[in-house]
Amino acid sequence: MASSSLSRYQSKRDFNKTAEPSGDTIVAPSGRRRFVIQKHAASRLHYDFRLELDGVFKSWAVTRGPSLDPKEKRLAVEVEDHPLAYGDFEGTIPKGQYGGGTVMIWDRGYWTPEGDESPEEALKKGTLKFRLDGEKLHGSWVLVRMKRDHSGGKRTNWLLIKHRDEFARENDGDAILREDRSVASGRTMDQIAAGKGSRPKPFMLKTKKAAPPDAVWNSNRTDTAKPRASKATTQICPPSDCNATLSNTTISCRTGLSCL
Ligand code: MN
Repeated sequence: MASSSLSRYQSKRDFNKTAEPSGDTIVAPSGRRRFVIQKHAASRLHYDFRLELDGVFKSWAVTRGPSLDPKEKRLAVEVEDHPLAYGDFEGTIPKGQYGGGTVMIWDRGYWTPEGDESPEEALKKGTLKFRLDGEKLHGSWVLVRMKRDHSGGKRTNWLLIKHRDEFARENDGDAILREDRSVASGRTMDQIAAGKGSRPKPFMLKTKKAAPPDAVWNSNRTDTAKPRASKATTQICPPSDCNATLSNTTISCRTGLSCL
């Protein structure tokens, strides 16, 4: 299951060319499902939200980051499954490659599905309720899949919403985003970009050895790769073409791409 679900991730990257982990790096076994949120200053800043399930990370790109305000629905664009080993990556993806930019491990910890359904079933149905026990994020959340837009957009859009509980924060849901240091290394984005400061402590990997502060992740695919690859690529609608109304979940793009 894990290997077939990672094929989309692997198809984007050429593992013969570098020593980049291909999903086979030794991941520490865990009795609880782990989650990782990577702040990613790519061509557009976003937060990669990853939930461990069946040996991979189910992944969403949350453009504006999670909000603690239950009234704030945050667009979460479904992206390809990622290898669990990637959850320990903090550093730089070279410019010009897929996802080029700085990556910070913004939060991590454990997640627990809520309700009677299996998480696999809940994801299939498009409503996954869960609890986060991270260093920054806590309490109850939900991911809700939106209807596919009629224009045949290639992306599957979800909304990430905080449930009301003692960890919700009405009207100041973004305060959490200002806690802007790595939970793995304590570093800022600038320090990570410079390759300076402390090494990120491993969480996913079995190794006790922390990665160097100037780690580089080669995705081995240029952003301007063959047009055939565009199906699996994050194609984002330019803001000028977007008509996004998040409160009633209407998000549309003139060109049929995902609005972020
Ligand atoms: Mn990303």
